Amino acid sequence: MPSVILKPGKERRLVAGHPWVYAGEIAKITGEPKDGDDVDIRDYKERFQGRGLLNTKSQITVRRFTTQKEELDKAFFRRRIEAASKYRVHGPAFRVVFSESDQLPGLILDKYDDYLVMQALTLGIDRRKPWIVEIARELFQPKAVIERSDAPVRKLEGLPETKGVLWGETDGKVRLQFEEFSIEVNLLEDQKTGFFLDQRGNYAIVAGHCAGRRVLDCFSYHGGFALAAAKAGAASVEAVEISEPANARARGNAELNGLTGKIEFICANAFDVLKKYDSEKRQFDVIILDPPTFTRTKQNVDDALRGYKEINLRALKMLPPGGLLATFTCSHHINADLFKAVIVDAAADAHKTVRLVETLTQSPDHPVLLAVPETEYLRGFLLQVMG
Ligand code: SAH
Repeated sequence: MPSVILKPGKERRLVAGHPWVYAGEIAKITGEPKDGDDVDIRDYKERFQGRGLLNTKSQITVRRFTTQKEELDKAFFRRRIEAASKYRVHGPAFRVVFSESDQLPGLILDKYDDYLVMQALTLGIDRRKPWIVEIARELFQPKAVIERSDAPVRKLEGLPETKGVLWGETDGKVRLQFEEFSIEVNLLEDQKTGFFLDQRGNYAIVAGHCAGRRVLDCFSYHGGFALAAAKAGAASVEAVEISEPANARARGNAELNGLTGKIEFICANAFDVLKKYDSEKRQFDVIILDPPTFTRTKQNVDDALRGYKEINLRALKMLPPGGLLATFTCSHHINADLFKAVIVDAAADAHKTVRLVETLTQSPDHPVLLAVPETEYLRGFLLQVMG
C-alpha cells in the first residue's frame, strides 16, 4: 500500500483523533499513489496511523477515513453511509452524512423527501461519486440523486464547481411538510443543498416565544424562523433577506402555509435595515439574527467580530425589557468564547442586561466530533433582555 510518512511529532493530531494530515507535516510519500488514491498514513517510525484519501493539490493532503487496516472499497463506503443513516432520526428532510462527523470526510448527503442531494467537497469523494450514487440508490431508493458541488471550497482541492442530476429525473422542486410549516425548495437552484437543515431544531424553540409578539427575522432565507413565528401566532413578523430568489421562495412558503399578509418580506441588506430601524427607534419583542459566515479564515476574525457586534448592538437596542434575541454565528473560527464576548460587549454598549435563556446549536443530524473542532460551527444564544 502506498504510504504517506509523517515528520517526527506530526502524528500527534491523528493520535488525538483528528483525521487531517497537512502538506507541511509529510516527510515523504512512498509507492507513487495518484491524487484521489487510498494511502496508509504512517508516523516517522512508519507505524500505521490509519488509511485515507490523498490529494497533493490540497493543503489538507490526506483525510483519514479509518484507523483500521481495511479496504476503502465500495463495501466500506456502504457500511459508513448505512451507519450514518442509522444514527439519524428520519424526517421529511435531514442530513444523512455530515463529512468528518460520519468518518466520511468530504461527503455531504442530504435527504429531501424522496430525493437525495450530495456534495463532493474533496477530490477523493469526487472520484468515488459513481459508488456514492449506487449506494444511495440501494439504501434509499430515491426518485433522483442530485449533485450540488457548486461550493467554493472545491477550489482548495483543485476542483471546479459543478451541479446537476446524477441519476433519475427531477426538476429539483420538492415540497416538505415539517411540524412547524410546509416549504417548497428547489434542490437544483436554492442555496447550499436547498435548505439550511442545520437550523431545523431551532425554529420551534424560538417560535415558542413569539405568540402575540412583534418579530424581526434578519437574514431570513426561505423564512424558516419567520414562518414558524407567524404560525405560532406572532402579532407581526418582518423578514429581511438580501437575495431576491430566497425572498420569492419565502413569499411562496407563506402562501403555502396560509400566512399571506402575516409576514412582511423585505428584500434588503439587513445591516442597512437594522441601522435604519435603530435610528427610527423601532421596537421589536423578538429578533432573530442568522447571518451568513462573516469569515472563512482565521485572518478575518477581527472584521467578522465587528460585523457581529454591529448587528447585535442594533438589535439589542430595539428590544424592550422581556424582549428576546436569538443570535447565531456559523463561522467555526468564531468559537463560543469569542461569540459570547462580542455579545457581552454589544449588550454593554446598548446598556442592556441580558440573560441566557438557552444555548442553541446545529441540529443533531449535523453531529459534532469532540476531537474535530471544525465539525462544530453553528453557535447561538437565545437571550432575554432584562428590565
Ligand atoms: N435563517 C435562515 C438561514 C440564513 S442563511 C434559515 O433558517 O433558513 C443566511 C442568509 O443571509 C442567506 O439567505 C443570504 O442570502 C442572506 N444574506 C447574506 N448577506 C445578507 C445581508 N447583508 N442582508 C440580508 N441578508 C443577507
